[in-house]
Amino acid sequence: MPPRKIPVSSPDIGERERGYVMDAVRSGWVSSLGAYIGRFETAFSRYCGTEHGIAVSNGTTALEVSLKALGVGPGDEVVVPALTFAAAAAVVVHVGAEPVLADVHPEYWCLNPEALARAIGPRTRAVIAVHSYGHPCDMDLILAVCAGRAVDVLEDCAEAHGARYRGRPMGSMGRLGTFSFYGNKIITTGEGGMVVTNDGALAERIRQLKDHAMDPGRRYYHFEAGYNFRMTNPQAALGCAQFERIEEFLAKRRSLLEWYREELEGIDGIRLNPKMEWAEPVNWIVCVELAESRSAEARDAILAALADRGIDTRPFFVALGEMPPYRGARKVGARTEGTPVADRLSRTAFNLPTSTTLGREDVARIGEALREVLNGP
Ligand SMILES: *Cc1c(COP(=O)(O)O)cnc(C)c1O
Repeated sequence: MPPRKIPVSSPDIGERERGYVMDAVRSGWVSSLGAYIGRFETAFSRYCGTEHGIAVSNGTTALEVSLKALGVGPGDEVVVPALTFAAAAAVVVHVGAEPVLADVHPEYWCLNPEALARAIGPRTRAVIAVHSYGHPCDMDLILAVCAGRAVDVLEDCAEAHGARYRGRPMGSMGRLGTFSFYGNKIITTGEGGMVVTNDGALAERIRQLKDHAMDPGRRYYHFEAGYNFRMTNPQAALGCAQFERIEEFLAKRRSLLEWYREELEGIDGIRLNPKMEWAEPVNWIVCVELAESRSAEARDAILAALADRGIDTRPFFVALGEMPPYRGARKVGARTEGTPVADRLSRTAFNLPTSTTLGREDVARIGEALREVLNGP
């Protein structure tokens, strides 16, 4: 019998989740009105240390409605890290602006503040600071670069629920923060997202934009072309239950990373998730960076060999500048044009299974398989 297949990620849904979702369904409030929405918004925004939370349909629409609320549009540029999930660049295109790709930092893989400083020009309106793979950006440096320049900082926290930067929670430092609750994120609502902010006027504008931009004082009068980016009440019910378990999930994810470090100890030429001294990262997903000399083909052969052993993995994101919609975008490194760090990571790094449902024995099996594949039998 072949060994059990270990997926790279699987949601952790229990009795509490089933209870809340059934309650929402039984109540009849199955669209986007209902008690769980406000409850989820309040609980989660408090956790982020922000005054307002607006639940939306997913992490991508959270980003798009945020850019729209900031007034970003045609003729504007938005700086995006050169290595991240493509949604952060796609939304810039969708609001009619242009993404500029700034390289990531070689130590912690998020937007490099020096590259950001070089990327900002007269048309720059905003920067999307993505806290990638659970590690925070260096927010003080990013905020300092943008200060006095009319460049808004939007934090994309889709991969970093619960992480902290110098004690401050994700989403509380920029003008806006966005989260995703997709099935592979730290907590899930199936599909879902949230925008958090301390700016009451912006929060109100986002609340209206995501709900067809209907004038609160005049029904069916739409003050601009709005969106339907709403979350449903059963999704929010799932979110409430997941949120009540977030500390349990984060603790289990910490253990998983410690187990991986133990299992993979002594293997030459690999590096796992970074941690800068100013950061309290979370383990959204276990990352392995191979030596710089490895080719993308060698990395992919490693992933194929792990798949043969029943272990699901995923390659790092493809550097945005390599893909058709962003090939023509301006690419800026810390000292050079081009994005060498993003290009290298996208070729040499990959992710290992990271579900809170995994046990120590699963990690041992994965560690043994990786050791075999990297060192030969
Ligand atoms: C997952 C993710 C998103 C998009 O979230 P969805 O809910 O899937 O739309 C955006 N940005 C980053 C960095 C992500 O990891």
